[in-house]
Amino acid sequence: MTGFVFSEKPIAIEEGDGPYVYGEDGTEYLDMGASYACVPLGHGHPAVHEAVTEQFEKLTYVQASYPNAARTALYELLADTAPGDVDYTWLCNSGTEANEAALKFARAATDDSKIVATMQGFHGRTMGALATTWKSKYKKPYEPLIGDVEFVPYGDPEAMQAAVDDDTAAVIVEPVQGEGGINPPTKEFLQAARVATATSGAALIFDEVQTGMGRTGTLWAAEWADVVPDMVTAAKGLGNGFPVGATLCREWIAEDYGSHASTFSGGPVISAAAGATVETIVEEDVPTHAADVGGYLKERLETELGEAVREVRGEGLMVGVEVGRGANRALKELALNHGVLALPAGRTVVRLLPPLTIEEEHADAVVAALAEVVG
Ligand SMILES: *Cc1c(COP(=O)(O)O)cnc(C)c1O
Repeated sequence: MTGFVFSEKPIAIEEGDGPYVYGEDGTEYLDMGASYACVPLGHGHPAVHEAVTEQFEKLTYVQASYPNAARTALYELLADTAPGDVDYTWLCNSGTEANEAALKFARAATDDSKIVATMQGFHGRTMGALATTWKSKYKKPYEPLIGDVEFVPYGDPEAMQAAVDDDTAAVIVEPVQGEGGINPPTKEFLQAARVATATSGAALIFDEVQTGMGRTGTLWAAEWADVVPDMVTAAKGLGNGFPVGATLCREWIAEDYGSHASTFSGGPVISAAAGATVETIVEEDVPTHAADVGGYLKERLETELGEAVREVRGEGLMVGVEVGRGANRALKELALNHGVLALPAGRTVVRLLPPLTIEEEHADAVVAALAEVVG
């Protein structure tokens, strides 16, 4: 018997500490992917460890209809730190579920059905979120998916304005595209989505599953864009490795959300993990650190790699290096010859989503490794 969905890599990972993980033979790897941005505070962070251990000993699980201090504290923390008046929280277990809920909430609250999404966008792999994901490779074997989805070119404010009409329930958009190749848009594009949805009565959903938790240099990328959406979805970094997703909503969505639920919503241990993660990120001003180190990393990549790569782009510690068709070969060499783990974004981009707590010396190490691999 064996797993079958993931093609396994030739390195088993058994331990972790801060920005490093270790193979079974003790080989050290600098974790510049953070397993898809899931450990913003690095591996084995003491605040998360302590919160989870304490909660685990008190109460492992209770259904979400019984108030529980760990969950209530997380609700309050998210309301306090989310953009504007986005104060209501639905907790779930993953990014796709957070988006699935957002799409359902939007349809219920608006009584409309059309969803506007973006080309190259990625929102998850369950049937609804998948329908708003761009790449046909992910969709084809499972069609038909939910209908009434229109895609607009990412970064085109006029196309966005033209697509949103009176029948539109929601616009779903990543404030910086991740899976699609690390594509930061202009603020004008995101602001155009805000104006168009506000005018037509549709819900604006920011999918911050990857950009959230300080990744782009502010706690939410919505802050950078100067936009208050109607919903913000989060997951990847929210529990520093524990599986938790959130759909954060404005009141008009929350009060007319229809009927939605999930058995494992907001378990105490998961809530404690997310609470400790968000609290630490905010209290230690991790987003500002991510902006500083991210700026340094981008500048060093541009200087050291120069003509060897097509482009370096990103915001904060969400950085893409466009290397051309050889991204997978580069990633393999980085891992096996230089002890650096990173991620692909499509076939042409090396994606760096390290723990937000890395220092300049870690940035230097990855720049040196990449220079050897692509130089
Ligand atoms: C990863 C990702 C998702 C899906 O999250 P899962 O937890 O894998 O379901 C959705 N949206 C964005 C922007 C992502 O990066």
